[in-house]
Amino acid sequence: MGRKRQKVVKIIKKKLPDQYLCPNCGMNTVGIVLHPNEGLARIICSNCSLKQQFPVPENTGPVDAYCIFVDKYYGAQEPPKQ
Ligand SMILES: [Zn+2]
Repeated sequence: MGRKRQKVVKIIKKKLPDQYLCPNCGMNTVGIVLHPNEGLARIICSNCSLKQQFPVPENTGPVDAYCIFVDKYYGAQEPPKQ
């Protein structure tokens, strides 16, 4: 019986990381919590306790929120160039 062996293809769903790189301490310890009902994103680094909370547009994903967070972080460090 030469039944062909079915190739087992494991589908690994790319899971978004729960933890992001912290621009302050450089560790992957930044947690992002989205509150779509309030239109808010809360970001906390569990290593250095860096915290931010800011309004986000509807349908903002964690990655988008993280980008806003990083932009805000660096924006707060350096005066904006005109
Ligand atoms: Zn940190």
